[in-house]
Amino acid sequence: MRIAVVGSGYVGLVAGACFADLGHEVILVDNDHEKLRALSNGEVPIHEKFLPELLSRHRGHRLTFSDDLKEAVRLSSAIFVAVGTPPTEKGDADLSYVESVAREISGGIENYKVVIEKSTVPVYTSEWVRKIILRSGTDAESFDVASNPEFLREGTAVTDFLFPDRILIGCDSQRSADLLREIYAPLTDGSYYKRADAIPQPDRAAIPPALIITSTKSAELIKHASNAFLAMKISFINAVASVCESVGADVNQVVRGIGADSRIGRRFLNPGIGYGGSCFPKDVMAFRAVAHEYGYEFRLLDEVMRINEEQRRRFLRKIHDALWTLRGKRLAVLGLAFKGGTDDIRESPAIFLVQELLQEGSKITAYDPAAMDRARDVLNASVTFASSPYEAAKGADALLILTEWEEFSNLDLPRLRQELKYPIVIDGRNLYDPEAMAAQGFTYYSVGRPACLPDGVPTGVLKNGKKA
Ligand code: NAD
Repeated sequence: MRIAVVGSGYVGLVAGACFADLGHEVILVDNDHEKLRALSNGEVPIHEKFLPELLSRHRGHRLTFSDDLKEAVRLSSAIFVAVGTPPTEKGDADLSYVESVAREISGGIENYKVVIEKSTVPVYTSEWVRKIILRSGTDAESFDVASNPEFLREGTAVTDFLFPDRILIGCDSQRSADLLREIYAPLTDGSYYKRADAIPQPDRAAIPPALIITSTKSAELIKHASNAFLAMKISFINAVASVCESVGADVNQVVRGIGADSRIGRRFLNPGIGYGGSCFPKDVMAFRAVAHEYGYEFRLLDEVMRINEEQRRRFLRKIHDALWTLRGKRLAVLGLAFKGGTDDIRESPAIFLVQELLQEGSKITAYDPAAMDRARDVLNASVTFASSPYEAAKGADALLILTEWEEFSNLDLPRLRQELKYPIVIDGRNLYDPEAMAAQGFTYYSVGRPACLPDGVPTGVLKNGKKA
């Protein structure tokens, strides 16, 4: 099948490369000429496992890049729209990129096409896309609008795309449903997974993935409701962590107990410094806004957002509890990306915390395995970037762990202790066992668990915790 994917960001680029790997002919369209130039030259603009392999496999053959949307539409049967839908100041989704793409698409429709929303959009968007295309005089029979929301996670985007929990197709006509079924057939009939060159299967993959076909509106709503639910799970466990801190319980033990219930599940019950990224914050706001627009006050989502905001503030207070004043203190920061495995810093709680610490006069030396280039663009010049966790820790008053990169959970602790001026670790991601840290000579603070002092040090040194 000939497919156009409009927008070559985290979603469009991964979707385009994966569609090519399924055997389709893909034109990736973007209006960012610098990005197109980089992609054509073989550069990989985002940090994503297996993406470099797929791009080098298909670039110039089944995967081409273009800035000519109209021509790409003319040549394709399916047009996936994967442009950004950022929040407006009011909190609803800014759909102006989607609208401008819809307007341009209409000029290229000569025979039957399906225009598919891949971007995360509010529930009425497909109707508007249809109206916009019709307004330009396009024949109503010559196209359908469908919804195929994307559930990939940054960091594991390629495997999430090729080994999804489910493929969701929202269609209001049989013809468009058949076309989308055909596009995903190599996954749903299992043939992709039998190929010797298939991307390796991750743990927990359900093969073949479930195909769920719904109305377009239901599909749009499923995406917003899914993200809101996941954000709620994170805020819920962060609220539980706060109660644990007040009563001296251990949230990790509590999570083990809650998560063992198959109705609840263990995943997404990770206490920390709150959710961030380009999806959850904006999608929770947009879902609340669309509910409000249609007469339902989704107050539960207000609370999800409030807890998330508070979680960052609580972590700042924890840093104060550990260090007292911050002016002039040297802090080592591990992690800038909004989560491990990605270079994306959009709405990253780590970036928020670094900015707050800088405002309070701290000196920051930061290390992140992938996100430092992007962070340099948004953090002021006073942040120093290190080439390893140990270099960041050198002479620091304390070490903060702000992103759950795997490499941060396997640090050489004796070496880290030697590098730090004071052996204090404030862990926003609960990567270490408090008792093990105490045994290694650290004063260790984490989320939802009592703070810990090195073995042998009197507990009076801790303001807000007990010796474990
Ligand atoms: P992004 O900002 O990384 O990429 C968007 C791309 O669209 C950019 O390359 C931009 O240049 C391009 N673009 C904008 N206007 C254009 C136009 N008129 N013509 C051609 N190209 C245009 O965004 P993203 O993270 O890939 O997200 C895209 C959508 O997918 C959003 O709605 C997002 O909510 C949703 N989504 C994102 C993720 C994720 O993990 N990032 C996951 C699922 C869904």
